[in-house]
Amino acid sequence: MNYISTRNKSLNFDFSSIFLRGLAPDGGLFLPSEIKKFSENELNELSKLNYIDLGVEIISEFCVPALNKNKIKLILDEAYSSFDTKNIVEIKKIDNINLLELYHGPTLAFKDIAMQVIGLMYEALNLNKKKINIIVATSGDTGSAAIAALKEKKNINLFVLHPHEKISNIQRKIMTTCDSNNIYNIAVKGNFDDCQKIVKQMFSDEQFREKINMSGVNSINWARIICQVVYYFYAYFQMTSKLNFSVPTGNFGDVYAGYIAKKMGLPIDKLIVATNENDILCRVINSGEYRPSEVKPSLSPSMDIQVASNFERLLFDVLNSDDQKVSKSMKDLNNNGFFKLENDELKKIRENFSAEKINDADTLRIIKDFFINYGFILDPHTATAVGASYKVKNNSKTIVLGTAHPYKFLETIKLAIGKNVDPPKQFSNLSKKIEKFEIVDNKLDDIKKYIIEKIK
Ligand SMILES: *Cc1c(COP(=O)(O)O)cnc(C)c1O
Repeated sequence: MNYISTRNKSLNFDFSSIFLRGLAPDGGLFLPSEIKKFSENELNELSKLNYIDLGVEIISEFCVPALNKNKIKLILDEAYSSFDTKNIVEIKKIDNINLLELYHGPTLAFKDIAMQVIGLMYEALNLNKKKINIIVATSGDTGSAAIAALKEKKNINLFVLHPHEKISNIQRKIMTTCDSNNIYNIAVKGNFDDCQKIVKQMFSDEQFREKINMSGVNSINWARIICQVVYYFYAYFQMTSKLNFSVPTGNFGDVYAGYIAKKMGLPIDKLIVATNENDILCRVINSGEYRPSEVKPSLSPSMDIQVASNFERLLFDVLNSDDQKVSKSMKDLNNNGFFKLENDELKKIRENFSAEKINDADTLRIIKDFFINYGFILDPHTATAVGASYKVKNNSKTIVLGTAHPYKFLETIKLAIGKNVDPPKQFSNLSKKIEKFEIVDNKLDDIKKYIIEKIK
């Protein structure tokens, strides 16, 4: 399988290279040059498989020959052995909501589903055993999932940049109480967009990237996306009617994986983009103007993002794979603070996506109502997707993606229902553990210096 960049179609990388690099050298995102579309017969065959065998069929479409099906099967078996449910994910029917619980992994958020796999892919693909330094920006959940997947791994250091005081206490504790000595937690005095920008700038600095043999596991890494495509298929096969998926959205990685599932032939009606008050994606889908504004802290911190990186991948598609146009849009964004879509481009987006904003007051109300009516506690991110699903009216059933366990957002749950959530067994002694992280200014050079010093 060959990969190109959204900003340069003539680029030609294999899966190993794009996996280890993360971001394309021109600052664009990697995409496969073609995407397999399953026929109805093939879908029928896939529908008979269990989660892991289904994963093997889907993931191998993107990484053969670097990883063959046998190897992928071994990776998935090991990756998901720590999950607390046999099927990896669970679907719960609660009144007329179909909730796809994606938080049965070691850090209680959907990020584990891809990250556990990625951790093992590094071992399988880093053939020269050179030390890899992975830099990741997190809005709260990616960091802990990456730590769980990469701690104690030989030949890997992991640097996690989180926005200082802008994630939940439990999210921070899960990350900073890991005592593996290849893990470095950095609290950046800024917001998630600042953290992500620093990581992208490091990637674009070829000299620095080479010097530290840098890699990345944010959802700009295509491997994240392909692991997430699997649960869209799995959920569809449990329901077997045309579906909407309502997805709590920040960096546009998870819902974009749904779009790839649709391109691969899955009969998806609407992909519902649920946002909090950081509603850039709502605004672009409803008005055609992509214009990031200031990040506002909200009750769903993992979605407090204004620059949704993976949108560039969708843009490449709606601009008919015109890499020059993508480059120009990204330049406009950089220079003028926005770019605008034409009507026919916007139409293509709206055929596949709709978008709804759910503010904090609504989020609290949804959590409370859901608890009173069904005795079920939603985390605040999932609650936005529940709220968004109520607003979309068509003839398809809707699956709501449950992206995190409510325990990670204790304070918010207490605010909503006046009760604590009991810690799941993974985290019963979290409060007694010692935290370790360093607070660093929001300055690229300071953070580069910090990293260089640590890896000496
Ligand atoms: C990361 C995250 C999201 C947003 O996912 P994206 O792929 O960034 O759009 C939503 N909910 C939770 C709990 C998350 O951790």
